[in-house]
Amino acid sequence: MKTFEELGVSKEIRRAIEEMGYESPMPVQEAVIPYLLGENNDVVALAQTGTGKTAAFGLPLIQKIDVKKRIPQSLILCPTRELCLQIAGDLNDYSKYLNDLRVLPVYGGSSIESQIRALKQGVHVIVATPGRLLDLMERKTVSLATIENVVMDEADEMLNMGFSESINAILADVPQERNTLLFSATMSQEIARISKNYLRDAKEITIGRKNESTGTVKHVVFTVHAKDKYAALKRIVDYYPQIYGIIFCRTRKETQEIADKLMQDGYNADSLHGELSQAQRDAVMQKFRIRNLQILVATDVAARGLDVDDLTHVINYGLPDEAESYTHRSGRTGRAGKTGTSIAIINLREKGKMRQIEQMIGKQFAPGAMPSAQQICEKQLLKVIDDLEKVKVNEAEIAAFMPDICRKLDWLNKEDLIKRMVSHEFNRFAEYYRDREEIEPVTDRGRERNLRESFKGKPTDPYQPSKGFVRMFINQGKVDNFYPRELIELLNKHTSRRINLGRIDLKKSFSYFEVEEHDAKMVAKALAGARFNGRKVMVEIAGGEHDKPAGYPKADHPKPNRAERGYNKPRGKRDDWKQFFQEGGRQLRGDVPDFQEEGWAKRSKKKH
Ligand code: AMP
Repeated sequence: MKTFEELGVSKEIRRAIEEMGYESPMPVQEAVIPYLLGENNDVVALAQTGTGKTAAFGLPLIQKIDVKKRIPQSLILCPTRELCLQIAGDLNDYSKYLNDLRVLPVYGGSSIESQIRALKQGVHVIVATPGRLLDLMERKTVSLATIENVVMDEADEMLNMGFSESINAILADVPQERNTLLFSATMSQEIARISKNYLRDAKEITIGRKNESTGTVKHVVFTVHAKDKYAALKRIVDYYPQIYGIIFCRTRKETQEIADKLMQDGYNADSLHGELSQAQRDAVMQKFRIRNLQILVATDVAARGLDVDDLTHVINYGLPDEAESYTHRSGRTGRAGKTGTSIAIINLREKGKMRQIEQMIGKQFAPGAMPSAQQICEKQLLKVIDDLEKVKVNEAEIAAFMPDICRKLDWLNKEDLIKRMVSHEFNRFAEYYRDREEIEPVTDRGRERNLRESFKGKPTDPYQPSKGFVRMFINQGKVDNFYPRELIELLNKHTSRRINLGRIDLKKSFSYFEVEEHDAKMVAKALAGARFNGRKVMVEIAGGEHDKPAGYPKADHPKPNRAERGYNKPRGKRDDWKQFFQEGGRQLRGDVPDFQEEGWAKRSKKKH
């Protein structure tokens, strides 16, 4: 391993970072610093927060500044106000012994006038969020004509936040012969595009991936029914009494709801999302930083501004839409050689997303075993005892009260006292978990089996029409944006009397619905020749046996393959349904029901 001196870092800067406790370079610094100290070297670095990337670009950047010229020479773009302030703060620390080097953070949400004033006085480095910088450029209060180095930090996050066009506009104003450095946690198509358009022969350095997990982040998944998601979250949190973690939710609303519920249930939790004011966000982040808050419930975007990454746990309350966001989330734990755990609480529908994430992180989620009520109570009890043992007793301050305390508790023996102390803390858990049903894990196989069992020999067979009803087939499905409302509208439009509908079973490219027996023929006739979204509608009375799912007590028909089911037919060809049916098109109904469709089993149960 090289020293900072060997990497070419100047004496003044070394003195400052030594004071900050940087003894030897981190891998990203070793890779990037010497390269950036050279001329005309562009870099795309895949590295995450916590890898030491700020110093990796910050040290060479300030070293290259000519302090005598009080003009903007370096520009750092980053997604959030918090990161902006953090980077500017770090650069100020690094340049402690460089006389008069001026770094200015410019970001939205604070007075633009004071930023303009500071710009007028002259600065060397501008650290900016794209929106505010663009605003300043439009007011002609800042010129980027003298910029020699540009850093885009957390570029993927800036793109996620919709800054793509602002970045284009900003880069168009920076001289071509600049050095450009792009930091991103992940490589996406858009990052590759920016790199291609704005960087020259960029050297690619990957640190994040190797370093991110360093084998110390465990990825664990709990697959549960949607209705059990919150209870599962509680169990997991209860099972780790020492947890210091972030629960990531997908929307602001969900974030607030989960935080509210946790607070009501007695947890030391709070929320962080974009609907809070800046002051509220600052207060929550500060509480969390100093560990006055144990659990933070946050959206991805709001959490970007938080510089805390030594979490014991990251909990994904559902998986993020973008697989990259998962890398950001999980990258906040397992730092500095410690083991961290990234837990995902998902339902079956999210399995696809999980696979994408697994591919991206190059690791598999281990299925977690939901802690039982007893295991949780044991853990909590141990924690109470542990806390009791370790609590700091302030002899001097309680001495005066001791005689009274002793007199009051005199009638209790040691064992009674211990029981009371422990119960004081533990009752909340004991009461909640007493007689509580365990959470059943959901597995694909389990779900199929449940389905089969629930239909076994019962009149709840979803392939048999409900009593008094006839099952109809229609060549419109979810891909056609055909849903119950559309079906009802279609019926209203083409039939003259009210039709009572039974079950509706929507598939990808076709659907089934039930009508009363005496209406069936009339409905088939009335809808013949009707059109939906410009396409001819085809309705027929459906059979029963052909539609059964894999594993369902079989009829003697072989299951048709995809081609036979019409899947591979080009869209246009689907118009000749009539002929398709006549040629044995009934097989078309052999499609495996969409198990994912919630309410499907419920609906059929309710009916009977
Ligand atoms: P960053 O990825 O830039 O957010 O840095 C993560 C943390 O590592 C920050 O707290 C830095 O102060 C710290 N850090 C960066 N470089 C070093 C180093 N060479 N030695 C020790 N700590 C460092």
